[in-house]
Amino acid sequence: MVPGAGESIAPGERRYNWVWYRNVEAAKLPALLTDREGGVRASSVPPGMLPDSGREAVYAAADRFLPPQFRSLVQATAEPFIQAIVDLKVPKMAFGRVALLGDAAFQPRPHTAASTSKAAGNALALADALRGNADVLQALKKWEPEQLEYGEYLYRSGVELGRRSQSAYPGSTPT
Ligand SMILES: Cc1cc2nc3c(=O)[nH]c(=O)nc-3n(C[C@H](O)[C@H](O)[C@H](O)COP(=O)(O)OP(=O)(O)OC[C@H]3O[C@@H](n4cnc5c(N)ncnc54)[C@H](O)[C@@H]3O)c2cc1C
Repeated sequence: MVPGAGESIAPGERRYNWVWYRNVEAAKLPALLTDREGGVRASSVPPGMLPDSGREAVYAAADRFLPPQFRSLVQATAEPFIQAIVDLKVPKMAFGRVALLGDAAFQPRPHTAASTSKAAGNALALADALRGNADVLQALKKWEPEQLEYGEYLYRSGVELGRRSQSAYPGSTPT
């Protein structure tokens, strides 16, 4: 569930936010990431920019692969969008007085369902580290190790969960 119109979070006014992860051969990504104006996007095609053929392909795939309830959900979505999934990790998060956090540092696969809380956790811990510490360099140095460790942990968990659910059984090859 996500907020509805006017950011409402009242029961009955919230919206469903659905995602459907599909394996795709890397060579087919540029075609999938081509928007309705012919531009090839780096990693996502936002709502309203999918070409009609792309939208129809999503609906057709729902017809073919999904049970009726999920099929209805997909086909009730006027403007589906695409987001490529990546595994991103960095060896450092503190660079002098500069900090990398949230998605800019680690993007574990979505199987972990933890990226938002990771981003918030990085920020809260940074605030704690800076509070009452006038030496920013020292504060960032102290902040970094635990954040790196958690990012690495989520990164590895995402890859492992993905290996099991995306590719470790017959018929899971990219289409
Ligand atoms: C389709 C989708 C579904 C997702 N579902 C989930 C989920 O179910 N659970 C979950 O935990 N996570 C989910 N995520 C991941 C989650 O959204 C991110 O991990 C999280 O938003 C990262 O927070 P962040 O603050 O690091 O980055 P962001 O939320 O991306 O915030 C970065 C901000 O910086 C702004 N910005 C960018 N460039 C500039 C610039 N040059 N100048 C100024 N501002 C700039 C952007 O506009 C944006 O507001 C999902 C992501 C996607 C794409």
